Amino acid sequence: MCGICGFVGTGNIKEILLKDLYQLEYRGYDSSGMAIRNNHKISVFKSVGEISYLDKQLKNIEIGGSCGIAHTRWATHGKATLENCHPHLSNNGKWAIVHNGIIENYLSIKNMLLAKGYKFLSQTDTEVVVNLIQDNDNVSPIRAVISATKKLQGSFALAIMNSERDVIYLAKRTSPLYVAKTSNGYKISSDISTFFGCSNSCFILQDDQYAMVTSKSATFFNQNGEKIKPIECDVKSSSLDNMTIKEPHYMLKEIKDIPMALSSTYRHIMSTIDEDKIRKFCKGIKKVCIIGCGTAYHAGLVGANYLEKVGLHTDCYVASEFRYANHKIDKQTLYIFVSQSGETADTLACAQYVRDKKCKSIAITNVVHSSINKIVNIVFPTTAGKEIAVASTKAYNCQCLAFYILACIMKKIKYQAKCEKLIKDYSIPKFDNSLVSAIKNSEKVFFVGRDWDVVTCNEASLKLKEITYINCMAIAGGELKHGTLALVDDKTLVIVICTREHIADKIANCIHEIKSRRGKVILFTTLDFDFGEVDKIIKLKSYKNDFDPITTIIPLQQLAYYTSVDLGYNPDKPRNLAKSVTVE
Ligand code: GLU
Repeated sequence: MCGICGFVGTGNIKEILLKDLYQLEYRGYDSSGMAIRNNHKISVFKSVGEISYLDKQLKNIEIGGSCGIAHTRWATHGKATLENCHPHLSNNGKWAIVHNGIIENYLSIKNMLLAKGYKFLSQTDTEVVVNLIQDNDNVSPIRAVISATKKLQGSFALAIMNSERDVIYLAKRTSPLYVAKTSNGYKISSDISTFFGCSNSCFILQDDQYAMVTSKSATFFNQNGEKIKPIECDVKSSSLDNMTIKEPHYMLKEIKDIPMALSSTYRHIMSTIDEDKIRKFCKGIKKVCIIGCGTAYHAGLVGANYLEKVGLHTDCYVASEFRYANHKIDKQTLYIFVSQSGETADTLACAQYVRDKKCKSIAITNVVHSSINKIVNIVFPTTAGKEIAVASTKAYNCQCLAFYILACIMKKIKYQAKCEKLIKDYSIPKFDNSLVSAIKNSEKVFFVGRDWDVVTCNEASLKLKEITYINCMAIAGGELKHGTLALVDDKTLVIVICTREHIADKIANCIHEIKSRRGKVILFTTLDFDFGEVDKIIKLKSYKNDFDPITTIIPLQQLAYYTSVDLGYNPDKPRNLAKSVTVE
């Protein structure tokens, strides 16, 4: 995933790059580094771990210079070590590079370069690229970059500089990359948010486009090296929340933000979506196919339930599976892509595939200028506000609400009064701390539910494992006796969720089966139903057929958060993960 940034111009370059790196830290925090050009030399600074370590290391160092590139890493090729930390230098020390993406043919290129005598200090795919540029360095620098990167397969956003001039060269395929003019120079970044406050508009690089950025200008090129006019977009419209928070972690803030995020999403959809246009667009649709990854996939499963309930046959797929499953793509199917960032590589690839087949598509995303929004026919926006914590919370609730509204619009069902009631009524419940001890005193945790509660179970289980590293799983109640019950003993905690009246007695049966094997049961329910013996009941407010999946997950998001904090982890930055999954 990684975040890359750079600056050419006047000012304290070290501070400018550090500030932007902090903004990009959500994209990975295995290591960070920067390369700065000064006195015809490139100096490189690197540190393993969070950006604050690099910050500390550079505290008392005067660096100077007016051109630099920087990187925050989420390792794909090679461990999180200093050698693998970006920027990487070419063998002759002339070129420096930072990279977001994966070079799929790096091994064959590496072997070719090894045969020519090149040496490699890291295990990364990135170091191969910078040496390939050196190997093509017999033309102008931008042409060397173009001819080297033309040989690459895979995904990349690359920022490159050389020791000769204060210029940043850019190359892009799949991974996002932006350029903005500021009052004192030019900035480049993986994310528009780094331009907030210093620029009102920016340029978006498209796939296989290149740029040459100096302190005075940014020039854009195609693969033939011909100048092109770049696409420009507004920086302000990708609005940001105030980044200073009262809560100890972003995740807690983001959970507390859920009512506000739901209200904002509902009002934004109301004021921007033309319902007749959506219905006209969906005319002739016989089936819906939803595609997403991780939490967005779970929102898709909730969405599939909403769409089925209004009579639309709907399937939901994990994007990375859909891509290679050879599904029949047809014009009577509506394809809906869900991605918080709108940059999720697997989801993007599916959207591109569907577009190539000229089929109808909608994106549910939280970022205005995201790549997926440019691929699909219609954007159905969520306005959850910026989500910083790696584990998604408020974006999920908003994606589910967006699906609810979309399903209603497609079938001309009134939704306004119900949404207004939810927004007016709902407040975040107080968290019961005894739940944390129940988790900590167990060896295994299962989440059990039926119907759409099993989707909530899946999302709750994902949240818990993401930020507490507890090995847990979700299972449909009816499936318990087909295998998983073998694992239930007195060290097992089973969190049961039940909001569905018509299967409450079936859930009661599950609970009996668990209790008979001495498992502990904590029941989260909206119902006044006698489920038999349980260890604890958490009673939830009911929104029946409309919003139960949106509200029931909230105490379980809290459960994951408070358990993580109790175990001494940082819930905002879970190990091995990053926020925006821009690699396959
Ligand atoms: N493949 C590069 C590395 O492992 C970049 C990774 C990324 O963009 O996530 O260092």
